[in-house]
Amino acid sequence: MIDLKSNLLQIEERIWKACDRANRRREEVTLIAVSKTVEAEVVKQAVEEGHFIFGENKVQELVHKQETLSDNRIEWHLIGHLQTNKVKYIGKTVSMIHSVDSIKLAKEIQKIALKNERIPDILVQVNIAREGTKFGLLPEEVLDFVTEISAFPNLRVRGLMTVAPFVHDSEENRKHFRELHKIMVDLNEKNIDNINMNVLSMGMTGDFEVAIEEGATHIRVGTGIFGERNYQI
Ligand SMILES: *Cc1c(COP(=O)(O)O)cnc(C)c1O
Repeated sequence: MIDLKSNLLQIEERIWKACDRANRRREEVTLIAVSKTVEAEVVKQAVEEGHFIFGENKVQELVHKQETLSDNRIEWHLIGHLQTNKVKYIGKTVSMIHSVDSIKLAKEIQKIALKNERIPDILVQVNIAREGTKFGLLPEEVLDFVTEISAFPNLRVRGLMTVAPFVHDSEENRKHFRELHKIMVDLNEKNIDNINMNVLSMGMTGDFEVAIEEGATHIRVGTGIFGERNYQI
């Protein structure tokens, strides 16, 4: 059995310490509990412990848990790759889409959002370490991409997201987090109409402290809260 209360407390303590080291306030960092593969019942237990922000990487699983729990205190974030044909299922209910990485996808989100009369918050996913296996734009593609989607009236581009490489020493990812931060600062300085970003979604169980030190505003923690994932269920 996992001890959710104690896991959440431990993560919270690690966040506080990282904020302290970086001279940042705790409120500047949002903890997204990544509940992929975790049963709705366990998500409910986390809610009972006072945690209300969850991330899922699959649309079906997100919608299923959302409907099962039917608790409007919960904020759901889509953090995984999003296929164009699935946008319609989350168009009304997701707080933030972290994984926008193509014009085709941005157009579909714009279309569905217009129909629903919403302006969803989105992040642009960047493949910061240029890994062949990862989704996201390459760093040099971000400026043109953001400039193009800045004209979409029903999207609010809040910032950037990355999934850093899997490393054993989290220090190895510092340079990637720093680069993502720099890309955001540089973009803001371009004064693109409708673009003023302040969200950096970066850092997971193994490396979120380094991410916080480098400016993360949203960290996505799964294993550290829910334990090792069992992909059989
Ligand atoms: C699974 C996942 C996480 C959480 O990873 P942990 O190492 O379990 O904390 C974060 N972000 C994304 C996009 C994920 O798919």
